[in-house]
Amino acid sequence: MRRFERKQNVFANKDALGESYQPDQIEERDEEIEEYMHALQPIIDGWEPNNVFVYGNTGVGKTAVTEFLLDQLQSDVTAYDDIELSVIFLNCKTLNSSYQVAVELVNKLRQPGNEISSTGYPQQTVFNKLFDELEAIGGTVLLVLDEIDSIGKRDELLYELPRARAHDNLEETKIGVLGISNDFKFRDELDPRVQDTLCERELQFPPYDAPELENILQSRADVAIREGSVADGVLGFCAALAARDSGSARQALDLLRLAGEVAESEDATCIELEHAEQARSRLERERVEEGMRELTTHGRLALLAVVSKTAKQETPCRTRAVYDEYASLCESAGTDTLAQRSVHNHLADLRMLGILSASENRSGSRGNYYSYELNVPFTSAIEAMSDVLRLSPEIETIREIGLMNDIT
Ligand code: ADP
Ligand code: MG
Repeated sequence: MRRFERKQNVFANKDALGESYQPDQIEERDEEIEEYMHALQPIIDGWEPNNVFVYGNTGVGKTAVTEFLLDQLQSDVTAYDDIELSVIFLNCKTLNSSYQVAVELVNKLRQPGNEISSTGYPQQTVFNKLFDELEAIGGTVLLVLDEIDSIGKRDELLYELPRARAHDNLEETKIGVLGISNDFKFRDELDPRVQDTLCERELQFPPYDAPELENILQSRADVAIREGSVADGVLGFCAALAARDSGSARQALDLLRLAGEVAESEDATCIELEHAEQARSRLERERVEEGMRELTTHGRLALLAVVSKTAKQETPCRTRAVYDEYASLCESAGTDTLAQRSVHNHLADLRMLGILSASENRSGSRGNYYSYELNVPFTSAIEAMSDVLRLSPEIETIREIGLMNDIT
């Protein structure tokens, strides 16, 4: 008997919803593309390239647009015999210093077998080896450093590279550095001298809104999903959720892919809204769990207090009331209570993680105060809590109260 049988009832090309897929077409980024092309124009004109710095939240198309444009540039440049363009692309996600980035680049440019070890050299030696490799290439070299924010404050290479020609480290090669960052703060925290050169041209990618995300999803669904296999409203649902949360196309695509997987696992031939809703609560639950793993015991108890208030239909609710609930949970757990101030800080952290939302109320003479409520479905939160907190009878009671009150 065969155990595995090909399904493919829903997906025509599931990989097209995955991370490594490169779309043929970029939607909704015409302005950014125009500005980007402008910044790259000197390469085609035969001059020294600009240094370009691209930033924006994750999932807003920075990598996709960059790869798309650089492919285009590399093919268009072949029309000009006097330009030799080499593009070197490095994702720095796992590299957390200039030193590591430089070693990685040297080894990328060297023949196999000739690599240098990733420790043991003075930094300047590695930089010099890098300049030698770059000089050997000649022509115009565009160095793309994606997710460059992971090097943090160890940003010396970003100072050295753009100055390599001025400092006579490079003569034959014209170099341009294209840095891409998910972190807005990274730019501001760069050494001012680095800012001046690296950020010669700056491009900001804003988050997508719901209609933009829906178009992106539609163009991807055309490739990834069988005709007629996605019900009306599903793409809009995924787009709206991602727009409200992060404005990330990645988030919207992940949601759609998971909805498709849910549909296939139920042997459906069409992705229905209910599949998307299941996918949403699964992703949300994962996010809450991820956030909760980072929390201390008291952070978790503070969250459970809000979950408990939610079950009783008593949210939004003020810090004071959350605190009382928290104190009684501490008692059940046999833990000492923290002061109200510290619990307030935990609530603020939970808000940063997107697990709680808060509204500010004005109350005249007594000043302002915050009211908290869950920002994720009750069921996702309670499931996640029962996985990480050892308070089973209490959690069961809260779950039952929630059930009684029809909270989902
Ligand atoms: P970033 O690099 O900003 O984190 P990506 O470029 O990796 O984001 O985009 C995340 C996902 O969304 C990728 O699968 C990408 O192909 C897709 N995507 C993002 N923006 C667009 C767009 N404008 N048109 C088509 N696909 C897009
Ligand atoms: Mg990226």
